[in-house]
Amino acid sequence: MDPASHLGASRMLVANACRVLGARGLAEDVLGHISLRTGPDRMLVRCRGPREEGLFLTTPADVREVDLDGAPVDGEPSEWAAPNELPIHAEILRVRPDVDAVVHCHPPSVLLAGLEDVPLRPVFGAYNIPAARLALEGVPVYPRSVLVRRPELGREVAAALGTASVLVLRGHGIATVGSGPHAVEQAVGRALALDVLARVSVDCARLGGRAEDLPPEDVAELPDLGGSFNDVTLFRHHLARLRHEGLLLR
Ligand SMILES: [Zn+2]
Repeated sequence: MDPASHLGASRMLVANACRVLGARGLAEDVLGHISLRTGPDRMLVRCRGPREEGLFLTTPADVREVDLDGAPVDGEPSEWAAPNELPIHAEILRVRPDVDAVVHCHPPSVLLAGLEDVPLRPVFGAYNIPAARLALEGVPVYPRSVLVRRPELGREVAAALGTASVLVLRGHGIATVGSGPHAVEQAVGRALALDVLARVSVDCARLGGRAEDLPPEDVAELPDLGGSFNDVTLFRHHLARLRHEGLLLR
């Protein structure tokens, strides 16, 4: 594939991934974005355009290539602006060369769990193994609810993420990352898993919070089903749901 059509396919991928987040309730309106690294110091990122209609109606034109400061790589002025919270993406991509994609959005479930200090415990297993694994590994928390619009705040977020794959931004939202040829699919899958974990945790707390942690012998029987299943198959399912709902870009 030539570079221009590869970039076009990547913009379509990011746009559809934004639609998945919106359609699945992880982004309630216009807030949230996904980035995909295109070089050591550049990325495709969901920007704000003149006809902004919300994350679940993202178009490929909303996905622009910018440098880590948010300037357009082609140098051409446009009607699109990098998101205010670009430093979340830029500072994670800067300190995590293993990361190729970053998701940032505001799932209501994670917001509630964070505000009420509902612990994200490993209370379920095969129901959703990627979500169970997040609970078993522990989910780091960035304790500030600020708008991450300056590089120093982005560096705080990146430091709170550390080497983890997901981060709760308390009173704000989440950041998740992905790596490799299916980085966007992986980062979206982790965001969906974190949302499942938070939704179950909040509902358990509402019901009295009596669920016990998994015993070690059950944890030992939770295999890693692999990236092609966890990320690619799951993402294909969510694209099919978009198609069913008339929302898939092609
Ligand atoms: Zn945000």
